[in-house]
Amino acid sequence: MALIVKKFGGSSVATPDKMRAIVQRVLKGKKEGDQIVIVVSAMGDTTDDLVSLAKQITTKTYGREMDMLLSTGEQVSIALMAMAFEAAGQKAISLTGAQAGIRTSDAFNKGRILEMEPDRIMEALRDGNVVVVAGFQGITGHGDITTLGRGGSDTTAVAIAGAIHADVCEIYTDVDGVYTADPRVVPTAHKIKEITYGEMLEMAKLGAGVMQPRAVEMGSRFNVPIHVRSTFTEDEGTIIQEVCSMEIKQYLIHGVASDKNVAKITVLGIPNKPGYAYKIFAELAEKNIDVDMIVQSVRVAKEGVTDITFTIAGTELPEAMSVLEHIRSQMHAEDILIDKNMAKVSVVGAGMAGHPGIAAGMFGVLGDNGVNIEIISTSEISITCLIGEECVDKAVKAIHDHFFGEH
Ligand code: ADP
Ligand code: ASP
Ligand code: MG
Repeated sequence: MALIVKKFGGSSVATPDKMRAIVQRVLKGKKEGDQIVIVVSAMGDTTDDLVSLAKQITTKTYGREMDMLLSTGEQVSIALMAMAFEAAGQKAISLTGAQAGIRTSDAFNKGRILEMEPDRIMEALRDGNVVVVAGFQGITGHGDITTLGRGGSDTTAVAIAGAIHADVCEIYTDVDGVYTADPRVVPTAHKIKEITYGEMLEMAKLGAGVMQPRAVEMGSRFNVPIHVRSTFTEDEGTIIQEVCSMEIKQYLIHGVASDKNVAKITVLGIPNKPGYAYKIFAELAEKNIDVDMIVQSVRVAKEGVTDITFTIAGTELPEAMSVLEHIRSQMHAEDILIDKNMAKVSVVGAGMAGHPGIAAGMFGVLGDNGVNIEIISTSEISITCLIGEECVDKAVKAIHDHFFGEH
């Protein structure tokens, strides 16, 4: 008897036939007494299509109404999936995020799960239902619908698994596990059998889109093992958990990740006095805009003046613009430069600590390939370089070849 949460992404539920295939697979694997919660994404590219619909109405594609719109995609999926289970003779019920008890902060478009009240899920399971929950959405204390950020169905699934103490959270997707690099970019990448929450979180934050970072965080907090695997094959996937058994330290790094959703902003010529950096970043924080890499440099030639460069997600640029305009006028900045065509390439691995050659190896590969590094940042388990977006796929391949060989 097991309690399992299974999450199916957009490409897995893209058509009614694919939904029927999922139902058959779930019912085939379901043993007597098993309790199953299914979390689904919107069908295929529905979320992207809804975003472009909104763009045809307004340039302001964020805020409350955007969440009202985006959450409809998952609602279509849950109704159809519940019908598909019923049609196959299995009792089922669909629940929206609100009905499933997912309470979030009131940050529209990037709601954070504050509380889970899974009573209705548990009751429906006890009544013998397969419970189908809409991913990516929740509800605020005021009863407004929120969404959890792109890829947020992963977080819904792991949060439910944590709240109901599921044995495992299975993330079914269009790849059969987590690879040493995005297999669509690096065909020679290989599947990782096991990875710790810490390393997976770093990979996800640095752009490995196979899992939403918050989902990994949630798994770690509630100690839910996460199994990333294919919707279309039976192969074992990748287990994400606290401690990995017998991992042979064959490679010093675990993976290469990249992120093309990066904009670089340089504020030129502001006074080199206490409080100015605070003002910039406090205003951005107030708008809920995450700042990533930050570099401040003092100009030798012009005393009393400094430049600050930082990166944000490219998709947050429209919202950041109003803050930047305010900064320009309030601080009398000489200029503000914006480059939307930047990307990050990173190597990740707990094994790199104490191996100074890793950074040199990575920079050497970039240099040999004529890729200019604009900013470098490091953490205990990763090294990240900011580079031009046009060379990032080439950079990922070359770095992967260097550390993992070309087999
Ligand atoms: P879903 O719709 O099922 O949530 P996603 O598109 O969000 O699927 O995530 C799966 C995709 O993640 C894969 O198709 C793959 O291109 C991409 N990806 C990026 N990095 C990795 C990686 N290191 N390992 C596996 N897949 C990766
Ligand atoms: N449908 C949402 C998206 O496309 C959430 C998800 O699929 O996880 O981002
Ligand atoms: Mg996803």
